[in-house]
Amino acid sequence: MQMDADKVATIQAENRWEVPFRMQSDGWILVLLCLLIGVAMGGFRLGLPIGVFLVLSLLLHELGHATMAMLLRVRVSEIGLSLKGAYIRRAHSGRRYDEALIAFAGPMVNFCLVVLFLYLPWIGHRLAVCNLAIGAINLLPIPSSDGRRIWKALWGV
Ligand SMILES: [Zn+2]
Repeated sequence: MQMDADKVATIQAENRWEVPFRMQSDGWILVLLCLLIGVAMGGFRLGLPIGVFLVLSLLLHELGHATMAMLLRVRVSEIGLSLKGAYIRRAHSGRRYDEALIAFAGPMVNFCLVVLFLYLPWIGHRLAVCNLAIGAINLLPIPSSDGRRIWKALWGV
């Protein structure tokens, strides 16, 4: 009986880092919008790589949330893309500061990407500006934003 419990605990610990990715049917519209933004920012020659890096930036933002959640032993059930944006589905930690840390991790990834993109030739500065905007806008305490989640977690309002 004890061996079974140990086995279950081991399997749960191994699966903690496995999160399925789901592309919602309208997620392709978001990808297309990112590519169009890329073309608008960099023309047809640079638009494709800018658009691809924009999608990657959105996913890495969510991966930041997911990684922090998993480090804090909060179950993450899905990472995905939909027309509304990239997202994760996860359990609530039940701990205020953990909730704030999980919410803060996404924008922090974007701010790290700002620094990294500054070293990328041709398109890096444009991607840095985009990531700065994504990180900053997400920290605004507006409904359903990371900033709102941080505010609510820390001050309960
Ligand atoms: Zn976020």
